Amino acid sequence: MKHYYIFVIGGVMSGVGKGTVMASLGRVLMGKGYKVTAIKIDPYINVDAGTMNPVEHGEVFVTVDGDETDQDLGNYERFLDTDIFSLNYMTTGRVYQSVIQRERNLGYGGKTVQVVPHVPNEVIDRIEKASEKAQSDFTLIEIGGTIGEYENILFLEAARLMGMKYPDQVLNVLVSYMPIPPSIGEMKTKPTQQAVRTAMAAGLMPDFVVARSSIQIDQPRMEKLAMFSNVKKEHVIGSPDIDSVYKVPLIFEEQQFGEKILSLFGLKRKLDNGLADWKEMIRKIENTEGVVKIGVVGKYFSVGDFTLSDAYISVIEALKHASWANGKDVEFTWLNSEEYENDLSKLKELDHLDGVVIPGGFGSRGIEGKIQAIKYCRENNIPYLGLCYGMQCAVIEYARNVLGWKDANTTEIDTNTSYPVVDLLKGQEENLKDGSYGGTLRLGAYDCELVDNTISLDAYGTKLIKERHRHRYEFNNKYRKELEDAGLIVAGINPDNNLVEIVELKDHPFFVGVQFHPEFQSRPLNPHPLFLAFIKATNK
Ligand code: GLN
Repeated sequence: MKHYYIFVIGGVMSGVGKGTVMASLGRVLMGKGYKVTAIKIDPYINVDAGTMNPVEHGEVFVTVDGDETDQDLGNYERFLDTDIFSLNYMTTGRVYQSVIQRERNLGYGGKTVQVVPHVPNEVIDRIEKASEKAQSDFTLIEIGGTIGEYENILFLEAARLMGMKYPDQVLNVLVSYMPIPPSIGEMKTKPTQQAVRTAMAAGLMPDFVVARSSIQIDQPRMEKLAMFSNVKKEHVIGSPDIDSVYKVPLIFEEQQFGEKILSLFGLKRKLDNGLADWKEMIRKIENTEGVVKIGVVGKYFSVGDFTLSDAYISVIEALKHASWANGKDVEFTWLNSEEYENDLSKLKELDHLDGVVIPGGFGSRGIEGKIQAIKYCRENNIPYLGLCYGMQCAVIEYARNVLGWKDANTTEIDTNTSYPVVDLLKGQEENLKDGSYGGTLRLGAYDCELVDNTISLDAYGTKLIKERHRHRYEFNNKYRKELEDAGLIVAGINPDNNLVEIVELKDHPFFVGVQFHPEFQSRPLNPHPLFLAFIKATNK
């Protein structure tokens, strides 16, 4: 099968939304009737994103096949409405690891193994394999970082070599930032001109420049940029800031970005109105009435003076998808759980919310505040959705405050608790003893069987579901009977190992805790059933 490869590289600075640009371009090409897959390359040494602090790096996105990856893979899944696999993610660490392993196994047949070409060749191998697996017409490859950095040079070299290997099947797109300095009051193209020059020094000639800016780039600057960047004026594509990232595909479509790419490859569109469902979704977003107020209680928010919600991006997106599908907009309040630990009166702020979510988390900081927030939601009938740690905390809260087991806890926090209601998963002791933390959580999609007469079964409408996981601790079945006798409902079980996956409460507007991460499977065209049910419940 013939694959076409589009490399997306970044100019001027990070954080301008390369991932969104690439995912949106992917959607546009899908709208032309082609099969698209997307690959993320991260230039850091970490083998995966699993060991990184979410405040620093953002969310760890878990694939169906259990890889801990960059949050951009979440963007790809949401825009392309398809599962993206582990093969579609690589880091410097991962690439070097396989080159070194192959060398140890005599895989290079006695040759001197060198940084060039063996490292870029490994990258090319992986891109080709991922394209084969996805049977994609187009493979979009995002090279992390910014052009001119030392770190991503070997990946740029892979892009260059791939252009030589498949001369008619490779394009380069530079996503660059156009500042409007307030003191000048004019959009400046120079930083991008220099980024183009740096790309050329690495042997890459951008075929398109996507101009990211606060407002749409105007004609004179398009012309200037085209002239100094060696691209046609029509190949400068504007991408202004916009209220919803999901509108970016439509902005590209207006500028015929997809058509222009097809024409460079000598291809024709196979579909005429391929973005119809996407446009319908945008129409819904624009016609919401009323707002759902959701509080997210967590701890991965603040960096210096700024509040960043990147650590919870899939949760946020899932809540948006579900709200829009319910005809409403959603408003988020970021609540730092640590603040409840010294001052219980602060919990009153939850009264103004329609629902509360506690997403995944690790470690002891802020956990007591989360438990207080859950107690408050339980007692005051505030709809509650607990994800992973948010489910484990709900179990601890119930054990402490309903069963009266005052020191009940997870052994992640307290190994001496008299009631380890959440305990280490089987087989994990060894990992902790050896300090093997990387990639050893329970990861990826597992089955869960839903119990009759539960909120969850109502929501999913099917008995057997599959959801993605990322945890080292689990509900302790030793205490299951007592917790159930006291009113906690076990609503979902893993049929293979009897692991409790869902707990719920009756006589409450909505109280559900799930051991898995449903947020990873929510898509704007396919909102997640559990989030839909949660948002619906906030309406009552
Ligand atoms: N810290 C908990 C565990 O490892 C929950 C993990 C999570 O919320 N993703 O089991």
